[in-house]
Amino acid sequence: MARYLIANWKMNLPPEGMDAWMAAVAREDPRDVTLVFAPPFPFLRDAFAQRRRVGLAAQNCNDHPSGAYTGEVSPSMLRYCGAEYVILGHSERRNVYGEDDALIAKKLSIAIESGLKPVLCIGESLEVRDAGRVAQFLSDQISATAVPELERAGELVIAYEPVWAIGTGRNASGAMVAETLADIRNALAQLWRKSVPILYGGSVTPDNVDDLVANGTIDGFLVGGASLDSGKFLAILNGMR
Ligand code: PEP
Repeated sequence: MARYLIANWKMNLPPEGMDAWMAAVAREDPRDVTLVFAPPFPFLRDAFAQRRRVGLAAQNCNDHPSGAYTGEVSPSMLRYCGAEYVILGHSERRNVYGEDDALIAKKLSIAIESGLKPVLCIGESLEVRDAGRVAQFLSDQISATAVPELERAGELVIAYEPVWAIGTGRNASGAMVAETLADIRNALAQLWRKSVPILYGGSVTPDNVDDLVANGTIDGFLVGGASLDSGKFLAILNGMR
């Protein structure tokens, strides 16, 4: 299975700046790991011009090809700016901007139609985990995104990101992630009839990467906070080897 390491800068620009970050990342040979960089929209074109050894992702896209949607960006515009991937269903989009499964399914369809490779985020809240409903909750999220376009999808990635672990400094243990990924793989086989790489995201740092990779079931990471520092991002890459 392909392995990925994705940097999600969210709405941040780190002190070292994008040029220095990209130059530092370009110096490292990622070997069999696909590196993907998701900067804020306005930086995509510059990142595309400078990129070496990284694919580019948008952090979101609109669910329409064009039209009267002030402030929104279509998948084809993102492709024009050099994006190859698009992150969909991030918990910040779901929880801060009220995106529901139906809207995320529409975005998934149009992203695939437009030739963007989706990185679909799923994950449970602490309330769901404490209630012992994780497998059912994730299966429902997968079922809601079982769009017909999946049959035509090429590269497609799932990021398992428990909401309680994102940006909180509290990461899931390797054992917990391994158990949950087994549930996700079962649901994908039944509901999507597909097997795709599954990444983990949620407070990944150079300090916890060893525990997360130890059981060999994770196909990579979606990293927010620690990706803002090229040194930490590359240390996570090294931890994957
Ligand atoms: C994310 O942005 O998807 C994420 C996992 O953030 P962090 O690594 O900061 O928890």
